[in-house]
Amino acid sequence: MTPPRGFRCLMCGECCRGRGGVYLDREGAAAAARHLGLDLPGMEAVFLEREPSGLYSVLNAPGPEGHCLLFRGGQCLIHPVKPLVCRAWPRLWALVTDPRAFLEAAEACPGLSRLGFEALSAEYRSGGKPLPPRSYKAVLLARSGMRRQGGHGFPPA
Ligand code: SF4
Ligand code: SF4
Repeated sequence: MTPPRGFRCLMCGECCRGRGGVYLDREGAAAAARHLGLDLPGMEAVFLEREPSGLYSVLNAPGPEGHCLLFRGGQCLIHPVKPLVCRAWPRLWALVTDPRAFLEAAEACPGLSRLGFEALSAEYRSGGKPLPPRSYKAVLLARSGMRRQGGHGFPPA
């Protein structure tokens, strides 16, 4: 997934700070485990929590500010196989369609604040490539053939 035109990540790591909502399906968790030289149970024991939906959520370090446990030394330990939502950032439905959601995100992401809402949403407004669905959890559940539990649904076509 290519980043939006004009967006430059400043590698500050803010987007990996304890907000939760980072999910992997079984295939993604297995790929992450292979990347780290672990098996799936070993990966689960250290980094993941299995949800009733069957998805795995990536754990954060303790405390409200704790980074994702996969964020070490200023980088993502599983960068080449990182979760869908991490690959998609900041091309999230809410950020390209809702200026208020954008501003909130831009407070944390200096790359976004430099880019600006108009530039980020330009591709969407000009009818460019379809944007990813707004709920990445829903995408993973659908891929896995599981029933959705909550989430925000899909954008209109
Ligand atoms: S918060 Fe923005 S600038 Fe910082 S690492 Fe994440 S994407 Fe890059
Ligand atoms: S999986 Fe990687 S990119 Fe995603 S939040 Fe964790 S450290 Fe950041």
